[in-house]
Formats: sequence, C-alpha cells, structure tokens
Amino acid sequence: MIEYENLGELNKSFFEEYKISFEKTLNSGWYILGKNVKQFEEEFAAYHQTKYCIGVGSGLDALILSLKTFNFERDSEVIVPSNTYIATILSILHCGLKPVLVEPDLKTYNIDPQKIEEKISSKTKAIMIVHLYGKSCDMSPILALKEKYHLALIEDCAQSHGAKYFGKLTGTFGEFGAFSFYPTKNLGALGDAGAVLTPDFAFTQSIKRLRNYGSDVKYYNEIVGYNSRLQEVQAGFLSIKLRHLDEINAHKQKLAKIYFENLKDDFTKPVDDKNYFDVFHIFNIRHTKRDKLKEYLLKNGIKTEIHYPVPPHKQKAMEGIIIEKDFPISEEIHATTLSLPISFYHTEDDIYRVIEAMNKF
Ligand SMILES: *Cc1c(COP(=O)(O)O)cnc(C)c1O
Repeated sequence: MIEYENLGELNKSFFEEYKISFEKTLNSGWYILGKNVKQFEEEFAAYHQTKYCIGVGSGLDALILSLKTFNFERDSEVIVPSNTYIATILSILHCGLKPVLVEPDLKTYNIDPQKIEEKISSKTKAIMIVHLYGKSCDMSPILALKEKYHLALIEDCAQSHGAKYFGKLTGTFGEFGAFSFYPTKNLGALGDAGAVLTPDFAFTQSIKRLRNYGSDVKYYNEIVGYNSRLQEVQAGFLSIKLRHLDEINAHKQKLAKIYFENLKDDFTKPVDDKNYFDVFHIFNIRHTKRDKLKEYLLKNGIKTEIHYPVPPHKQKAMEGIIIEKDFPISEEIHATTLSLPISFYHTEDDIYRVIEAMNKF
C-alpha cells in the first residue's frame, strides 16, 4: 500500500532532534511564548530575508490577526480566490468583512489576475491571495493592482513554505504573509501552529497584541484581543524542521519531476515554469474520470486525496453568505482534480509505482 501521507513516517528522521528539544522545553518550565518562540520567529524571518515574524496559534489565526490589524470598516470587501481552502474565506468573515470571490486560472489553479479588476469596487480594501498547492501566484499584475487601487495585500502561505516567484519568497510581497504549520504542511509542526511575516514594525506590535488578549503589559488590555499564542514545544520542533525545509522541498521537487517526465499526457499536469519555484505541497493532476481513477488506484494499493471535493461557494456554511454562484472554473477543478502521493518520506520507487498504475488506467 502506498499511503497518501503518513505523518509518523514523514517526521521519523527528525525524531532524535525532536526528543532533545522536547526534553529541554519540558525542563525549562516555560511553555508558551518563550525563548523557543522568539528564536523561531527570528529564524523564520531571516529565512525570508524579511524583518519580522510573529508566531501564532494556527494558519487561520494568522489570517484573521493580519486582516484585523487594518481595522477595515464593517462590510468592506476583500478579494479572494474562489477555489481556496475554506479557512481563507472564514478569516474574512470572522473580521466582519465581505469575501468577493475571483475565479482561478485553470492552468495554475491560482487567482486569475485578469479577473480581479472587474471585481474591485469602492468598498474593496484588500486582496487576500493564496499560493495554492505550493505554487506562487502571478505576482506582477497583482502588485500592479495593489498600487493602482491602494489595496492591502495579505498572502495565504499555508501551502507555500519556501516557494518563490522570480526568486522572491512567497510571504514577502504584501503587508502580511500568513503561514500555517499544521502537521501536513511542508513545514509542519506536531500540532496546530502558525505565523505572520511582515516588514512593518507597527504591524508587528499589532499582531503581538492581538495574539495575547490585546495586551502589551500583563493584565492591561489595550484592545479587544484573542488568545492565539505559539507554544514552546511547537516552536522548538519548527526550528529543527526549518533547517530541513529546503531539503524537504527539494525532495518533493524531485518526486514531482518524475511525475512530469513519466505520467502520460491523458492526465492534465500542473504547469511547470522555471520562474515559479514550486514546492509541491500538493501534486495534482486533472482527469475527466477522476472518481473512477481514484477508485482504480485504491484497488491497486495507492491512496490519493482530493483538494478539494466541494468549492467554497457550494459549502453549506456559505449559504446566504456567498450569493454569487457562477464559478465554472472552480467547479471544473473541483470535479476533476486528484492529488497524488508526494510526501517527504515517499521514495522514487513509490512514485514510479504510482505512475505505472496510472499509465495503465
Ligand atoms: C491549511 C490551510 C489554512 C489553515 O491553516 P490552519 O493551521 O489549519 O488553521 C489556510 N489556508 C490554506 C490555503 C490552507 O491550506
């Protein structure tokens, strides 16, 4: 059986380092927002050659606290891709703002920059982009629109740790880069965790306040805050894994290359463009008989996933919230996409076995 993912196997090579770090934290007697968090924040900012990083409780919180910082008027509009994971849209709703969905480009699965401008109104305050599956969005036209309409830019980098656009790392283009370290992500912790990157000192102060009950000094609350603090054990694990992030991404890129070179053309593969340093959080293909293919692969001992089976505008939770229903490209992707095994622990042989089965379909 080739599993889609196995978090125990994925982390196995880090276990020895993790145990040492865990024991140190255990003995330290300090478990939230301490030395480990500070160290990881510095390392993660340095990795991105950006100024500040603030550790938070999850990827969703990283998005919410980023948006919250701007204090946009209620019902202001935020542009967001229509085929993202629901968390991106939830962050907008939790801030009392209105998500305005823009269709993706069917080749990259990322927001189609050509379709953004027609959705911008006098109420639009921000663009929240998602570097989906590990590939950066097409940033040049997005940055041009940001300038032209004076919009804030928040990047959802939950799937793009280490991904680059013309050599520049995702998470460093906008006011905020919001990261998730959910265990399955390329830089995954052993529980929930997240972080925000920003080049701006005042924004850093805002996020730090928001994550800790709106307080700068203990028991003195300046604003209505949250509890979204990064834990010491997770930060310790993340510092260790960050040192291996490039190796993790390189491994996934090597496996992706095997798919690119050997999968037959019946399957629609992602675009492979050297200007996009894609870290393949997910390697997806598209096929009209997707469900049959998934079943066939399972019969052949290969597990796959669908990212995602239901687009946001069709989720029950969005009834009465997302009124517009005309998103044919999103629906096309959701109906045909299939994610193939591409974990850090998968071997080249595993991938050749997947390809062999697929090419006989
Ligand atoms: C995982 C993910 C999130 C949410 O991260 P959590 O840490 O689970 O809160 C947000 N956006 C995208 C695109 C994701 O894949």
